[in-house]
Amino acid sequence: MKMYVAGQWIDKPQKIEVLNPYDDSVIDTVPKADLNDVDGTLTAAEQGARVMAKLSSYERWKILKRAAEIIEARSEEIGRLISMEEGKVIGEGRAEALRAVETIMGSAEEAKRSHGETVPLDGDPAGGKRFGFTIRVPCGVVVAISPFNFPLNLVCHKVGPAIAAGNAVVIKPATDTPLSALKLTEILLEAGLPPAGIQCLTGSGGEIGDALVSDRRVRKITFTGSRDIGERICKMAGIKKVTMELGSNSPIIVMPDADMAKIVAGVVASGYANAGQVCISSQPVLTAGKIYGDFLDALKPKVAALATGNQLDEKTKVGPMVRERDAMRVEQWISEAVSTGARLVVGGERHGAIYAPTVVADVQPEMRISCDELFGPAVAVTPFNNIEDAIALANDSIYGLSAGIFTENLEWAMRFVREVHSGNLHVNWGPQWRADLMPYGGVKESGFGKEGPRYAVEEMSELKMVVLHLTS
Ligand code: NAP
Repeated sequence: MKMYVAGQWIDKPQKIEVLNPYDDSVIDTVPKADLNDVDGTLTAAEQGARVMAKLSSYERWKILKRAAEIIEARSEEIGRLISMEEGKVIGEGRAEALRAVETIMGSAEEAKRSHGETVPLDGDPAGGKRFGFTIRVPCGVVVAISPFNFPLNLVCHKVGPAIAAGNAVVIKPATDTPLSALKLTEILLEAGLPPAGIQCLTGSGGEIGDALVSDRRVRKITFTGSRDIGERICKMAGIKKVTMELGSNSPIIVMPDADMAKIVAGVVASGYANAGQVCISSQPVLTAGKIYGDFLDALKPKVAALATGNQLDEKTKVGPMVRERDAMRVEQWISEAVSTGARLVVGGERHGAIYAPTVVADVQPEMRISCDELFGPAVAVTPFNNIEDAIALANDSIYGLSAGIFTENLEWAMRFVREVHSGNLHVNWGPQWRADLMPYGGVKESGFGKEGPRYAVEEMSELKMVVLHLTS
């Protein structure tokens, strides 16, 4: 595919190969943008921001609604593309395409809802006869940098609200998975988006990222990716609005009173989807000592039954990781844990980019598979004595994106909700659950700012205060 810059689909002699992670076959190539492309892109984006700001809410609603309809109509083809470039199983590829419909439709709805409010200035002793109100206006140029693991829906979470708010958007998709973002660009143009309103620049973040994020023509950066790249972007950005959706090592607390079938279903659903490459994938599973053995006995056969293989085969439940070197890293972290006292319950083998769904027990909190972001298909089980210990273990992390507890006890559930430092909290399910309309974002080093169309539109617009100095 070509990249879309300054109103044109352009190619370049230097190419990036997009590989199917299952067999490393080349799916397609995309141009490799360099620093010379960044300046032209941002000049065009500035002009685009002026075009976009003139669109009415109705026009923005209509474009996004039409785009959502096109994605829905082509969801099978798009789901397959997602699955091929990313490696997630075909069912998850289809599900992501349908989630993208919700995200873009939700953004369309917000295009009509974004508004200011009156401010009761006469409530202030100096207010007098003044009349105050706020209006929301677009930011201007939004740079949207996305990760590999949800190559369509996470791009939609940035592009949808950016357009709904009346901005011009520059997408910098992940180099491993740029095709879905280019497809989205095509669809938005087909839906009637002014060509100046969108650009999709394919190239290495390491090479063009600094120039993109530090440029003064950019007013807003919305980034989803790893903690370290997020920190670099924050340092480079200067005075801009920034949203950071970063990594995590999301914990689950299993209390002794919880329903075993529900726990096992929740841990499996939460720990192995997309081969564990989900920012809210379950990682430490903190389990009450009283049911520790029973839980491992119940979990083991369910994890062993998750079939691995070609992600396009309907029977496969866990496909390849995005790159073989990521599977090698998971293998290394798990071997390291086992060699320092943890116990392999099931899994632990690697075939190329496929790492078998794995459960590791007797994990110490300081082991990397517990305290760092593993981003792979394994959970690390650790026993605890009481709710105080469980909450302390859950909070013993630099991250705070999502957490879950299994219990029927309301007191324990509410202690978890109040005391665990996390942006998303789930009672009686694992941390890996999201509806696209909900406010979503982390605390601590998992980042700041919220996604979810309603909340992202606020972050991608500016609030202006207007005061009418009246005399009567
Ligand atoms: P990543 O390596 O941080 O890359 C994310 C994006 O940043 C890519 O487009 C990458 O481009 C770009 N980038 C790299 N260096 C850059 C620089 N110096 N300046 C600007 N951009 C730069 O993350 P990933 O491996 O794709 O994704 C996995 C991570 O994302 C995990 O940590 C996961 O938890 C996190 N994540 C968080 C959420 C959330 O909602 N909180 C959701 C999904 C994923 P290249 O691909 O060209 O390097």
